[in-house]
Amino acid sequence: MAAREHRPPGGGPGLTTAAGDANHAGMGPRREARAGAPSSSEVRWIDSHAHLAGEEFDADREDVLARVSAAGGLGVVCIGESLAAAARARLVAEAHPGFVWWTAGIHPHDAADYDPASDPVRLRSALAAGAVAVGECGLDYHYDHSPRPQQRRAFADQLAIARETGRPVVVHTREAEADTMAMVTEAGAVGIRGVLHCFTGSHALAEAGLAAGWHVSFSGIITFRKWADEALLRLVPDDRLLVESDSPYLAPVPMRGKRNEPAWCRHTLLRLAETRGADPAALGATVTANTRRLFALDQRVPPTRPED
Ligand SMILES: [Zn+2]
Ligand SMILES: [Zn+2]
Repeated sequence: MAAREHRPPGGGPGLTTAAGDANHAGMGPRREARAGAPSSSEVRWIDSHAHLAGEEFDADREDVLARVSAAGGLGVVCIGESLAAAARARLVAEAHPGFVWWTAGIHPHDAADYDPASDPVRLRSALAAGAVAVGECGLDYHYDHSPRPQQRRAFADQLAIARETGRPVVVHTREAEADTMAMVTEAGAVGIRGVLHCFTGSHALAEAGLAAGWHVSFSGIITFRKWADEALLRLVPDDRLLVESDSPYLAPVPMRGKRNEPAWCRHTLLRLAETRGADPAALGATVTANTRRLFALDQRVPPTRPED
């Protein structure tokens, strides 16, 4: 159901042809930048948001993970967008210690089914079992799959759990700018930290998140032909920047229209580096460090695992 989450404004994947995107990517100075693209061994990153436990990956999840390493990826944060998804994400993470981590939360689409009596108990136990973050949670007033008061209630309760457990929050927000800004600002004031994931919102919302001490994560949407907000890609300071696939959705150019996978985060990172005038390897090292720090990933790595 997360397929409905983050369509770019104005149309779904079918509206832009792969050829159109390829032409765009090859225009102007970018062609040269691509010709000199760094090798996968030089550019490292962590995918901060993938729905890797979904059934879309049941047939070939191990191959998908192998391709992450081959593309320079150092790991994947596997999102549990429901309690059931979190349980599956946990299994994937536990099979790949030090490379896959998991989260547990209740997506705003499902907030109508949120049970304030039992769900917080189950979320706390997921966090105690090793989930690195609360979420994804948040507000989605574009689809309104759940009534807005229930979205706010579920989000507020998850922010409270984050505060109580000291874990960061993975936040989904769409067309809910005023409420998101208010709730994230309030959360930041009491020390709650998190990330605005797959960010496509306003500069004002990004700035409010940054002022609250939060991070901003960009997905493959920024590689789409319709993406026009270059200034947003430069607005986020180095130490608050993350990249994500949000796979299996939102495959970046030049893979657009296919099932997305975490290995293709590389395209998003290279796009960010171009726009920011940054060295891709240096920017990759920065987003990797940011992801590790925000989610305290190093605390989750078993120290004796030799291949890590
Ligand atoms: Zn989302
Ligand atoms: Zn997601």
